[in-house]
Amino acid sequence: MDTEFDEADRNRIKDIVKAHKEVISLHDLRTRRAGHNSFIQMHLELPPDMTLAEAHRISDEVEAEITKAFPDAEVLTHQDPAGLEAMTPLDRK
Ligand SMILES: [Zn+2]
Repeated sequence: MDTEFDEADRNRIKDIVKAHKEVISLHDLRTRRAGHNSFIQMHLELPPDMTLAEAHRISDEVEAEITKAFPDAEVLTHQDPAGLEAMTPLDRK
């Protein structure tokens, strides 16, 4: 049966992400344990004028930090330009 990480672990993940000086924020953090496997997913909010190469590097750094703290987890991040989620879905296209 799948279970969510406990609150302490979720807060630990948020702290790791927010400690990265180039990440503005995160949202949609999803965590799941299923048997011996665990999964961590989130959206990273990054500066909108950042290049794709920079966004990729930062994502790799964040994923590496989380993997250090949760070695058995598969970590997946999605990159959002900061401020995007404030728009309505129709504006977003
Ligand atoms: Zn998002």
